[in-house]
Amino acid sequence: MSNENQKPTESVPAANTIDTNSTRTSPFLTEPLPEGAPQGQQQSLQQAATDPSVNGAIPKYNLPKGANTGNVGSTTHFGYQTVNSEDKAQKVAEVFHSVASKYDIMNDLMSFGIHRIWKRFAINMSGVRRGQHVLDIAGGTGDLAKVFSREVGPQGHVVLSDINESMLNVGRDRLIDAGCTNVDFVLANAETLEPFADNSFDLLTISFGLRNVTDKDAALAAMYRVLKPGGRLLILEFSKPVFEPFSKLYDLYSFTALPIMGKLVANDSESYKYLAESIRMHPDQRTLKGMMENAGFNNCDYHNLTGGIVAVHRGFKL
Ligand code: SAM
Repeated sequence: MSNENQKPTESVPAANTIDTNSTRTSPFLTEPLPEGAPQGQQQSLQQAATDPSVNGAIPKYNLPKGANTGNVGSTTHFGYQTVNSEDKAQKVAEVFHSVASKYDIMNDLMSFGIHRIWKRFAINMSGVRRGQHVLDIAGGTGDLAKVFSREVGPQGHVVLSDINESMLNVGRDRLIDAGCTNVDFVLANAETLEPFADNSFDLLTISFGLRNVTDKDAALAAMYRVLKPGGRLLILEFSKPVFEPFSKLYDLYSFTALPIMGKLVANDSESYKYLAESIRMHPDQRTLKGMMENAGFNNCDYHNLTGGIVAVHRGFKL
């Protein structure tokens, strides 16, 4: 495993990290991003931590504008915990800030490398073509964006977006090292996809991201909004194993081995406990398909992988 993601990361600059012209506007943004401020993130972490007006309470991590969308007073789940809806985004941010530098190696270890096959399957289902515009939502360290960058070619365009600056920084460094010159890096909350204009993308992907989103219906509605008519959405996510005895074995592995690996490799067992719990709390295959249909997607279907441990859902905007 390369240690490319171990290098110190800098702040993600405005829309395109490769193009140093800060006034450049990504074709997918509704307006230019402020100079040096991903998603209007002019407020430093320090300011965010000391200014109670930022996001209402005192947040530990700075999130894109509109990230804490939970209604005050309502509750949701964070793994097996019940938390205030408006606090979930901060808790998820803590998880991914904590694991960002070890994210790739942990993925390989935990899945025995199988996550690469799952991702390859999703990419094959995407039907991506040269010249297309692709948005990878909650794209983290950029596994999918890296492949799409090559597939769409120089006339195409890919946006790697994530709510979390630490994850996006790792992805940006990786993709720049890999010579991906047709990729923008944009901090964005999947629940709003605020930086992106309506009907912008031929293809949307969200891989192992949706279960972390507080309001999944809002996220699906935002995805429908930014997708071009004729475009497709692919959701790669953990799902419900179809064979009960297998499910028990899988539970044993998830709730014992994952936190131990997390402790040993990333010095963080809690984040990997959250991983196991969040998987169990995520809607099963049929429920997610119904949610996609409710958001307006057509011809929705899903494919189980590895006995339903993971599923790829696909839907179209007609
Ligand atoms: N897509 C990458 C992959 O498949 O390896 C990363 C998946 S990682 C498990 C989940 C990602 O979702 C993290 O990078 C996290 O920051 C991001 N995320 C969580 N909540 C989000 C939200 N509301 N909007 C956008 N990204 C979010």
